Amino acid sequence: MYTGNELREMFLKFFESKGHKRLPSASLIPKDDPTLLLTVAGMVPFKPYFMRKVEPPFPRATTAQKCVRTPDLESVGITARHHTFFEMLGNFSFGDYFKSEVIPWAWEYVAEVLKIPVEKLWITVHPEDEEARKLWMEKAGVQAERILNDPENLWAAGPVGPCGYCSEIYVDLGVERGCGKPDCAVGCDCDRFLEIWNLVFMQYNRDENGMLTPLPKQNIDTGMGLERIAAVMQGVATNFDTDLFRPIIDKVAELAGVQYHVDAKTDVALKVVADHTRAVSFMLSDGIRPGSDGRGYVLRRILRRAIRYARLLGIDKPFLETVFKIIQRDYGHHYPELTENENFILNHLRLEEKNFQATLEQGTQLLQDKVKSLQEAGETVLSGADAFYLYETYGFPVELTEEMLAEQGLTVDMASYETAAEEHRRLAKEQSQQMRAVQESAAIGERAKALGTTQFDGYEVLEEKVKIEALFMNGEEVQEVAEGDEVLCFLSQTPFYAESGGQVADQGILRTARAEAKITEVKKGVTGTVYHKLIVTQGILHTGESGDAIVDVEARKATARHHSATHLLQKALRSVLGEHVQQAGSLVTPERLRFDFTHFHALTEDEIRRVEEQLNRAVLANYPVSTEQMGIEDAKNSGATALFGEKYGDVVRVVSMGDYSKELCGGTHVRATGDIGLVKILSEGGIGAGLRRIEAVAGLQALDYVRNQDAQLLELAQLLKAQPSDLTKRIQGLVAQVRDLEKELQQQNAKMAKFEVEGLLQRVTDVDGVSVLAAAVHTPDMDGLRNMADLLRDKVKSGVIVLGAAVEGKVNWVTAVNPTGLSGLHAGQIIKEVAKITGGGGGGRPDMAQAGGKDSSKLGEALDQVPRIIQSFLKK
Ligand code: ATP
Ligand code: MG
Repeated sequence: MYTGNELREMFLKFFESKGHKRLPSASLIPKDDPTLLLTVAGMVPFKPYFMRKVEPPFPRATTAQKCVRTPDLESVGITARHHTFFEMLGNFSFGDYFKSEVIPWAWEYVAEVLKIPVEKLWITVHPEDEEARKLWMEKAGVQAERILNDPENLWAAGPVGPCGYCSEIYVDLGVERGCGKPDCAVGCDCDRFLEIWNLVFMQYNRDENGMLTPLPKQNIDTGMGLERIAAVMQGVATNFDTDLFRPIIDKVAELAGVQYHVDAKTDVALKVVADHTRAVSFMLSDGIRPGSDGRGYVLRRILRRAIRYARLLGIDKPFLETVFKIIQRDYGHHYPELTENENFILNHLRLEEKNFQATLEQGTQLLQDKVKSLQEAGETVLSGADAFYLYETYGFPVELTEEMLAEQGLTVDMASYETAAEEHRRLAKEQSQQMRAVQESAAIGERAKALGTTQFDGYEVLEEKVKIEALFMNGEEVQEVAEGDEVLCFLSQTPFYAESGGQVADQGILRTARAEAKITEVKKGVTGTVYHKLIVTQGILHTGESGDAIVDVEARKATARHHSATHLLQKALRSVLGEHVQQAGSLVTPERLRFDFTHFHALTEDEIRRVEEQLNRAVLANYPVSTEQMGIEDAKNSGATALFGEKYGDVVRVVSMGDYSKELCGGTHVRATGDIGLVKILSEGGIGAGLRRIEAVAGLQALDYVRNQDAQLLELAQLLKAQPSDLTKRIQGLVAQVRDLEKELQQQNAKMAKFEVEGLLQRVTDVDGVSVLAAAVHTPDMDGLRNMADLLRDKVKSGVIVLGAAVEGKVNWVTAVNPTGLSGLHAGQIIKEVAKITGGGGGGRPDMAQAGGKDSSKLGEALDQVPRIIQSFLKK
């Protein structure tokens, strides 16, 4: 029996023997592809080759690609064949071989290499793809009746662009796996007919009108799920029973103290926990961080779902780390990132698990509140929308909600839950189909491809002669551009640094004999071509003309100081806080630097001071800065700080500052650290779970900062008529003075209130034997009004008090009945009637109530009505 690891290797070997270049799996984070959240198929890393954005460096490739598919999330554990994370085996042709090669190869692989009995195999083709049908029969020798039509066998990368037919291979796992329905056949959703392999023939280009024209170069893209083929080859019931999954499931079952394969519901939870923990482990290993949007949110959702289902199993202690260790043990050999990034993975697993605890309690509280209000209203069914909200926001699987409700005799409206979930799935699907290439006019794309990489000379020179290769306006190539025009420009070579690695682009000008343009943006495209955006400030620029490209030296130097300071900062942070500190993003501009990094607590004052001090000591040490190009492996071995996702870039640039710091970096730097000048940290704060941000300034910008601080201090000193050095004492004195004054004011107010109370007491009248005081007072807020009522209540002893205060055109009301229940009167009922006259409402307890009114002009009238209102209640 073949293990999962063996099956992965066999596939890659087979296609290597057919002339394919074997490549490692690309990251789960699609590179240079803003249209995709996650790598969802083996073809994703090759999109630029298929679209001919970049000339493919080899004609054929084969990979085992890490994939994550969120649309399949809810199928996990329910079907035998769906995972969130899975490995897709594939072979790819970039304009090289086509259908007549791939079809017999696929057959050779399944029927001869894997030796799956042919009577179990089924093929589907598109009804109009006669060519494929013929090839299956004639070249592969498949019997005609085993080849079925499926009109859904169409593949497209988007509404416009490359597309084509596809053809699938299914394995019949036997009637006993089927749903038993009479129409159960290939394509049925049940577990009997398992799709193992999809062959895509990228054959046409589809235009805006839906017209298909043959592609000049046809491509092949195939995908076979490793877990599925393992299930077939190992003869087990589901993907989860293969050696790729069993150890994980067994560990989860052990932690939960339950048995696998005893109870169907338990099995689903075991599968979900195993699948999801595997997915989050791989996502973290590629540097995805849990977050509240984008792929970070996907990660967090899967992780929380794992914890929720673990709870269903009775696991209420942290478990992710233990399960991760099994995954690391079984997969670390083929995916070394699981080991290399162990710290990062564990830190986030622990933190998320801890934080989710709190969310969980909130969710439980929310559910309890809902239950209470349902019970009060005499209802027994929780709405589907509420249940779905709990699921979406707090990660409560609906089964859990159901279970928690059942304990109190309540249920969930599952029909409306399904509607809410369906709507959500539809939206999610729409998003996942946004697989369209980056928008760029064809004219620009063609030209960029023809020109290829633009040589960057800006490490050595800040000014050089260049030739204008092409000019574009609004996507169209033009020969000349004039003053005021905003233009995209390709140059023969460039001294301008293109925005990358967090460093902003250079500023500068392009000057020809009779014209000048200002550089507004510099970016690098997938073809390596540098895109210069300019605005012409003088004269006319022509294609083909030569000119001087001049970098703004001041801005460049200031940027370099901040960039070099960033490297020193990273090193200082690591030595003060620990090696777990990793860069999570940075921004380097002429004005300042911003550095995001992983760390799990706020920095203390002392830590910040030590980082700042160590950094400035490294500046003063005046380490020479040197750069070197080397292979990624050598760079890692030499101890350079590696980043995630650098695998595909073969040669990297290493920037060293003496022996102090060594980092992979393409940016521009100072010549020796002493050139940086003073570095001052401005702020430190949190920007997400386990993520911190530091902002700092260096060189002249640090001087500016210190000067500003000085000026502010002076201004303050002048304002307080003190020396800067006496400011603290002076302000302490002022604070004490303010406190004394406030106390005095309070005492005054209390005295005034007493005085007012005395006056009001004179106005107590008798209404049918009950003492009543109804009066307008000048109290600016409800608190004051209530205090006043309390004071009066003490004095009146037995009676009713109604106070109204006009505040900005509205009225505040307070009523007290003392003692409670006096003559059957109710403060809430009285105030309701009184407030009504001023256009308001309110109510409250029998002894004390408050209300508001909208119209203060009715205040007097309302007070006049008080005796009548009280009489009306006395009569009842
Ligand atoms: P299904 O209809 O079973 O969901 P699919 O049509 O979505 O499959 P493709 O997009 O053609 O699958 O992907 C190619 C191959 O990748 C499939 O034949 C299958 O072997 C595997 N695969 C797809 N989705 C998953 C998944 N969620 N978990 C495991 N393997 C998968
Ligand atoms: Mg699918």
